[in-house]
This record gives sequence, C-alpha cells and structure tokens, in this order.
Amino acid sequence: MSMMEEALASATDTKVCVVGPGSADGSAAMFRDLFPTAGKVLVVEDPRTKSVAGDNVVSRLKASGVEVSEYVMNPDGSDFHATYAKVEEVREAIRGERVTGNGERGTGNGERVVVPVAVGSGTINDLVKRASDELGLRYMVVGTAASMDGYTSYGAAITKDGMKQTLSCRAPLGCIVDSAVAASAPREMTASGYADLIAKIPAGADWMLADAIGSEAIHPLAWRLVQEPLRAAISNPSGCASGDEREVRKLCEGLVMSGFAMQAMGSSRPASGTEHQISHYWDMEDLSFGGRPVSHGFKVGIGTLFSTKTLEFLLRHDLSTLDVDKAVASWPTTFDALKATFPAVYGDRPAHIRRAEDEMAKKYTTPDKIREELSTFKRVWPELSERIRAQIMPFDEVRENLRLAGAPYEPEQIGVTRAKFRDTCRGIPYMRNRYFGLDLVTRLGLLDELLDDLFGPGGIWFPMPPESALTSSPSQTCK
Ligand SMILES: [Zn+2]
Repeated sequence: MSMMEEALASATDTKVCVVGPGSADGSAAMFRDLFPTAGKVLVVEDPRTKSVAGDNVVSRLKASGVEVSEYVMNPDGSDFHATYAKVEEVREAIRGERVTGNGERGTGNGERVVVPVAVGSGTINDLVKRASDELGLRYMVVGTAASMDGYTSYGAAITKDGMKQTLSCRAPLGCIVDSAVAASAPREMTASGYADLIAKIPAGADWMLADAIGSEAIHPLAWRLVQEPLRAAISNPSGCASGDEREVRKLCEGLVMSGFAMQAMGSSRPASGTEHQISHYWDMEDLSFGGRPVSHGFKVGIGTLFSTKTLEFLLRHDLSTLDVDKAVASWPTTFDALKATFPAVYGDRPAHIRRAEDEMAKKYTTPDKIREELSTFKRVWPELSERIRAQIMPFDEVRENLRLAGAPYEPEQIGVTRAKFRDTCRGIPYMRNRYFGLDLVTRLGLLDELLDDLFGPGGIWFPMPPESALTSSPSQTCK
C-alpha cells in the first residue's frame, strides 16, 4: 500500500486525495465520483485563485454537465482573512445557491444539494470547511499553494470574538493540490508551507518526550505519515523558493500527509510542538507586521528556531545523572502556588492569565508526579536522548534552510523584537495542556537558564539596539 493509500484508509473524513502537476484538470471527474447526486456546485475562490485554477475547474465541471455558480471573495482583489464574519459570508453564499427539484431557488421539498468547492489555500479552505460544516454539507478543495498543512486536516483556524481559534469541522471529502499551480504561487506562500513542514522535526522530538512519560503515546501510523516523507520534502529549500515543480510537489505531499496524520489520530499532536504554541501565542496577540497579519508558517518558522534550541539545550544535559529531588524542590507544590506566579509571567494581560489558569487546571502536575516523570527521564535518557539527537536538525541548518526557502529566520523579520520573543517563550509552558520539550526544561527548573542562554549577553537572540531591531521583512500574505 502506498503512503497515500494508507493515509486515506485511516482518514475519517477524506475519501480521495490527489497531489500532482495538472491535478486540477481532474477536478470534475473527482467531483462526479464523490458527489454523484449533487444538484449544483458553488466554486468559492478569490480573483487570484480564480485565474490560476478556478476558471479551469469551472469549465471542466461545466463540460461534465454539472451546474456551476461561482462566488468570488473580495472581487476587488483586496486582502481578507479567516474571520468568522467571512465564514458567515461564505455560508450565506452557499445557502443562497440551494435549488429545488424544478430548478427554482427555495428551501422547499425536493431541494437539490449544493456542493461547495474551495479553490484556494489556507484562508479559503478554512472558510469553506467551516461554512460547509455549519450547513451539514461536505465539500471538496482544490489547493493552489503549498502554504500550510490544513487542506486535509479537520478544524478551521478562524478569528472569532477577537481571538484566533480552531473551530471544529470535518476535513474535505475530496482534496486536490495542483503542484504546478502551487509552484507558481507567490514565493512567500511556499516559504510559509516550508516553515510549517520543517516544524514537524522538533515537533516529533517533543512527541518523543511526551511519549516517554506516557503523556501522549506515539501513534505509529500518524508518526509515519508525518515523519517518513518529511526529510525529502524539506531537502531542497532553494528549489522550493525558485518554484521548482518537483520540489513544491514534495512539499505539498508532506503537508497533505501531516493533515492526514491529524485525521488518523484525531489530534494535532503529530504536526504540532512548542513552535506551534509560539505561533498560537502570537495569534492571541494578533501579530501583524507592515500592516498585515503574519502568516501561520512564518510564525511557526520562528517558533521552530526556539524549539530546536530548546531541544539542543536539553541534550546538553545528562539527565541520567539528574538530582531528581533538587529539581522537584523547585516546582510549585500546589496549583494555587503555580497560579500565583502568572501575573509575573504575563503582566497586565488578563486574557493570557485566564488561559494559563484554564489550561494549567488540567496540566498542573503534583510534585509526586513530577518526581515520577523525572525519574522516568533519568532512567530512559541514554536511549531517548540518542533518538532525539537523531530526530532533530541542528539549529544552524534549520535557520539556513528557512533562509533559503525565503522564510523569516530572525524574529524581527515578522515584527517581533527579541525582548518580545523572550517574553513569549517565557509564557508558553502554561498555555496548553500538552507536554513539550519546554515543559521538561521548566520542570527541571532550567527555564531561566535556557532563556538567559538564548537572550542574555552572548546569546543568539541577545537584544539588538531598538533602532536596528525591526528590519524589513519578506513580504507576507496569509491567504
Ligand atoms: Zn501548522
């Protein structure tokens, strides 16, 4: 069985997926296979994706005898983002297309179902994914850029009530990613996808640590879906940046497999580690630069640098000789004692404190349990540290690859000063009830040492003078 067949066999929502040059040409055939009784198609696109793929998809659907309407988001070509208002806009556009048995619009008996087809990348896919789900409809996506791993994952990243959140919804029934179209997408989109994919390297190491203490066991298939195609997919960052179709195809495949791993496990764990927590933290703060939101992949890429440094820091410690009692003694003895430290960590940010309290109510671990965890690490460290060493990519290589891919490789390139970066890293351990390498550092009582190492004098992110801090960034888009 090919990896794709395995992925599809384990997928809860998606039945078919094709990645390749010109694969959008097969959209009508896939559509008729998946939706034999559909009354009508609504193609949701924007002016750019309409011209690079939407028009092709529409003409092929029409040629196969399907009734098609188009909904072009922001037809003036202006920017838009994945907000809940946009979900509602798409949802109403789909609802407005429902047709009755005799071809008249309406909601009476004999209604024929409209099937949404998203033509675009992260934003359009997430909007259509959620809007369809709210109407109880399945949908299909034709992906136009290798910009993130959300094509085949469940859930949609939507800004609602002022906060970016993952709203639940099913993954598409069918997925096409046309790698020839993706190869000619704006360079920063491919760079974003590259960064979202290289993140799976330290994320895998984070998962090994969680697995070792029984926090979240490694799901063998989900692990393979992400990790097996990964090294090849990120091996040629310059090729990705220059739009080499074969390289971009590998990137698309790697990203699609990550989505499938999340479907297989019903969790984002296979594709998300410390670096994604950093990205989510900046989502909470609405991080934008140059007047535009910073793309998911770009935030994740900078997070990946920190996450890699965290793992390298851990590997410099021989935990097999750990003084467990000493480490346990530094850990707050009660949840209330831990909570009392949050104002110093988050300052005047009540939303952050609320979130930390909510997550840590589930994540707080008693000193006895910490003792057990650290004793486990002490016992398995010789073997585990070797596996982590083999898993991760050295920091310099990660940073150089991001640079070659055209992705940001310094925090200032996404509008994050080094002081802010440090502040973010300090706040991460309490923001999510999930175990990462940074949690081990924290539970060893070494978080300040790690931060001083990176952000203190001589550290790689020692603050620069303010006037040179915010340099110009690679141009960004979040579509
Ligand atoms: Zn991601």
